[in-house]
Amino acid sequence: MNQPESQSAPAAPGGLMDKFAPVAAMRAGIEATGIDPTGVVIEHMLSTTEAIVEGRPTILAGTNNYLGMTFNPACIAAGQQAMAEFGTGTTGSRMANGTFAGHTDLEAALAEFFGLPYAMVFSTGYAANLGTLAALLNPGDAVLLDGDAHASLYDGCRMSGAQIFRFKHNDPESLDKRLTRLGEQAKRALIVVEGLYSVLGDLAPLREFAEIKRKHGAWLLVDEAHSLGAYGQHGRGLYEELAIEADTDFVVGTFSKSLGAMGGFCVSPHPELKLFRYTSRPFIFTASPSPATVATVREALNQIQTRPELKHNLWRNAQHLHGGLGALGLTLGAPPSPVVAVRCTDRDQAFARWRKLLETGVYCNLMAPPASPDGSSLLRLSVSAAHTPEQIDRVIAAFAAL
Ligand code: PMP
Repeated sequence: MNQPESQSAPAAPGGLMDKFAPVAAMRAGIEATGIDPTGVVIEHMLSTTEAIVEGRPTILAGTNNYLGMTFNPACIAAGQQAMAEFGTGTTGSRMANGTFAGHTDLEAALAEFFGLPYAMVFSTGYAANLGTLAALLNPGDAVLLDGDAHASLYDGCRMSGAQIFRFKHNDPESLDKRLTRLGEQAKRALIVVEGLYSVLGDLAPLREFAEIKRKHGAWLLVDEAHSLGAYGQHGRGLYEELAIEADTDFVVGTFSKSLGAMGGFCVSPHPELKLFRYTSRPFIFTASPSPATVATVREALNQIQTRPELKHNLWRNAQHLHGGLGALGLTLGAPPSPVVAVRCTDRDQAFARWRKLLETGVYCNLMAPPASPDGSSLLRLSVSAAHTPEQIDRVIAAFAAL
């Protein structure tokens, strides 16, 4: 018989659960302030950019829904049709249970979208990074990882067992120094960076990185999770915008942001990518994305290619928000981009501002150490093509009222 929780034995000192004591203390601290940024519940969606939160209509200004794709009627119809035809889930991995037609269709569509011969789909963006890096790197290999790279990139490097050399965020000189120290080993080293960084909204100096890659004969992987659909003539990402396609060996990304769904991918000019599916554990040992998900993403790619107004509206809103917040005298994280970060003097100010904004009907992301990249406390906003100029004005007005 199960014991009621209240009667269960207390954990023995030195036990498995001891590690949760500091987490419990942190949690109690958050509860005592009455401000819990991790506890926000989207109670009901009113539109792509507005929801009911705490019973109030709230503008969603921190969603990563850059192209406003989540309520796109064509994407919803494609997902519904796939669900009706192929069912709610794949119930297993492609290796063990088979590939659905939607998976190969999407891989072909991705290859075409990126103008590259090889593409592989993963169940999440996190799995794409784990799966690509763990397949690509072995113990004994060297990986040069940007200091602010996303946790999934770091975890993928860790999982591979390769030796990790972190270089200073966005600092070509620091990368160059580390590669120089590697000597001959630099020729088989992998450089791992992002395009648009998701917290401050700053861009990687990809041209300089590509030049250093060429100089040392190394390899380059770029995570375009936040730049897909926003940068480059075809919306491929920052590596397209900065014209370093010929120097880029692997592009990874996610379907959970500008494509409005879930899943991740890797595309490459290298035929070995086809072999990753036999060695990549985060690909082999997890269920493949659902039929509805891949069909939705397939249609979202089509939308990006046929509706240039999406990117246009995203940038109109990005400039509008950045200009408006800058005019209030706020310190912003970077020049205009789809991510706008407002720096705060300290943690308390960030928490208080975040709470006040939520009460006035604006939801954004609260970032405080250790989660923020440079130890600062900040409010992170991301704009969507689906925001109206009037909504952006309301966000700016809410900041003005702080
Ligand atoms: N890479 C980067 C740069 C990200 O910011 C994220 C998610 N925030 C991911 C990968 C993981 O993507 P997903 O959430 O779709 O698993």
